[in-house]
Amino acid sequence: MTLTTRSAAELATALQQGETTSVECTTAFLDRIEATNPTINAFLSIDRDGALAKAASVDAARAQGKSLGPLAGLPVAVKDVLCTTDQKTTCASKMLKTFEPPYDADVVRRLREADAVILGKTNMDEFAMGGSNENSAYGLVRNPWDTDRAPGGSSGGSAAAVAADMAPLAIGSDTGGSIRQPAGLCGITGLKPTYGRVSRRGLIAFSSSLDQIGPMARSAKECAMLLQTIAGHDSGDSTSINTPVPDYLTDLEKPLQGLRIGRVAAHFSEGLDPEVAEHVEQTFATYETAGATIHEVELPHAAYGVPTYYLIAPSEASSNLARYDGAHYGHRWDGTPSDDQGINTFDSPLVEMYCRSRAEGFGPEVKRRIMLGTYALSAGYYDAYYAKALRVRRLIRNDFTQAFEKVDLIGGPVSATPAFKLGEKTDDPIAMYLVDLYTVGANLAGIGGISFPCGFTQSKLPIGFQLQGPALSEPLLLQAAHHYQQTTDWHLQRTTAISS
Ligand code: GLN
Repeated sequence: MTLTTRSAAELATALQQGETTSVECTTAFLDRIEATNPTINAFLSIDRDGALAKAASVDAARAQGKSLGPLAGLPVAVKDVLCTTDQKTTCASKMLKTFEPPYDADVVRRLREADAVILGKTNMDEFAMGGSNENSAYGLVRNPWDTDRAPGGSSGGSAAAVAADMAPLAIGSDTGGSIRQPAGLCGITGLKPTYGRVSRRGLIAFSSSLDQIGPMARSAKECAMLLQTIAGHDSGDSTSINTPVPDYLTDLEKPLQGLRIGRVAAHFSEGLDPEVAEHVEQTFATYETAGATIHEVELPHAAYGVPTYYLIAPSEASSNLARYDGAHYGHRWDGTPSDDQGINTFDSPLVEMYCRSRAEGFGPEVKRRIMLGTYALSAGYYDAYYAKALRVRRLIRNDFTQAFEKVDLIGGPVSATPAFKLGEKTDDPIAMYLVDLYTVGANLAGIGGISFPCGFTQSKLPIGFQLQGPALSEPLLLQAAHHYQQTTDWHLQRTTAISS
């Protein structure tokens, strides 16, 4: 068996037992990236030298019997929204084309301390705004199961990298579904932890009250391995949760007996693809066979999730992205100021520089979000839009609290359809926003959610199942997904749509 088809858990054992070395393993993944990235475009930068140097140092330390970190020698891909001192961090935007961060994100620091090998930075929708990875300034990402289709977004590069065996582990970020939706569309497992469980320090901000970093891998077990390393309190993030990190791997094996899973009838209404519905229903049945009980629950305000999210996220984005003005941060226009200042164009050469820098640096979707957010926050509209959205957010949160009095977890689809064709939704922002129907709730409520493969369509496209749980229910989410993966093999299927 070639190294790149092995899971991170198998590779960890092979490394410990001396069956392979980290250099051998890292080389295999780098070669696979070199062969497949021209088609998939999952990586924006590849750090061959840095990765091999780290791998060699881990191998040397192992040979000397030194103690090593929990991810010793394992290759990991990192979404390009996280700051790295040794690689550019572009956020898939022209605005940050040359940005070299002066510090590592807390998650990156933890990966390095765990002795992981960082392969490179993965492609994404610009500033994490999108659901198809078609908004990258550096080219779209293709779904490894069907290269005419989108991998989902915004962590499309991380999802495609794992699905195409270019990396066994990857880091993503999820503001409204960006880990779970691409995981679902690419047939891998992805966890959005509870807001605050993983530090956001060094994560380039999109919507600060919703953003959360999480693990992406083939299985729940490997997500647990990765989460173990990246979770934990950080005084550099004021919203970081200060409670001990449980042992996610030990909890995985606890029995499912007595687990109460909620089913929301409204999830199965109009718009849900019949093949998706069928596999999702079968997944509930599999859980019942395993000893769980299924209960109908309601999330009465769920239908307001997408409009609420698309007011709050752009509002916060419009504020966060104000820093990219060509002077403080980001791309700077280098033209000559117009000579009719203040007459019919700009108030001053400085304002002209700001405007032109932002016009050149941001892509169309980012501009749309900044305009939406600025409008929603502006005097006269603030109460009608932003303040109202915050009140609806509270109702959505309360829905989950009430549901979790009756059940331990809520199951359902991740996306209404399997992977859609590239270009299918690019001209219709509303259609693209509706892709987030089942995922934004967890972000608005600040709770955890996991997505994992639960079947394939007739045409061999992966279908995802989502479990959502109360705050800090990561052990239970991982355990429930792991049990499912012990009795099914959807997560083990590999794509044959790409060759190398
Ligand atoms: N698709 C959603 C959006 O476009 C979610 C993005 C995300 O989670 N980063 O905003």
